[in-house]
Amino acid sequence: MNTPTRILVIEDEERIRQFLQRGLTFENYRVDLAADGSSGLALARENLPDLVILDWMLPGMDGLEVCRRLRAVGPMPILMLTAKDSISDRVQGLDAGADDYLVKPFAFDELLARIRALLRRAAPPQPEVLRFADLTLDTGTHQAFRNDRVIELTAKEYELLELFMRHPRQVLTREVIYDRVWGYDFGGESNIIEVYVRYLRQKTEANNEPRLIHTVRGVGYVLREE
Ligand code: CA
Repeated sequence: MNTPTRILVIEDEERIRQFLQRGLTFENYRVDLAADGSSGLALARENLPDLVILDWMLPGMDGLEVCRRLRAVGPMPILMLTAKDSISDRVQGLDAGADDYLVKPFAFDELLARIRALLRRAAPPQPEVLRFADLTLDTGTHQAFRNDRVIELTAKEYELLELFMRHPRQVLTREVIYDRVWGYDFGGESNIIEVYVRYLRQKTEANNEPRLIHTVRGVGYVLREE
């Protein structure tokens, strides 16, 4: 079960604080509220939120200073709310460690979109174990196994095998493979895909196991059982 995403709101205006709490709670975020910088920092240290919404203009310690200090608490993304919209203000905020800005007044939908974008960027990809037939691929360690036999892969071999494992039984054209694994167009002359498919076959069939990566003549390749 997923734990709810925790958002800390540091905002001195009661009206905006309540507005954010209602809206974010409705969107299933868990919300902590602080009305000034020092209690906000204390809550951040205590609860380690996944994201902080931070008002720039705060009584006492201002948003920029809070932002600098939050950076020392943890890697959580910081979205600054500000009535200021000049370029130098933005630069100052970014220098202080803010990840994004929203100028007041803002639409709630816009805030939600920014929050989702920041959370997506911050989330480390979760390691997975991909399986097809007796082949497994660990996306955390980049190791492959055929049954219990460990298969060591180079970086490109891994990327190619991961592409096949994420699209089992699906014919992958040469263009798609170039795009996804090499990231640019070779102009059709290169036999690099053939070379790497050969490496993968040698490694995955080293004990005479049945072939899993098949050629689809004139089109590309497919991961499937015989
Ligand atoms: Ca304020």
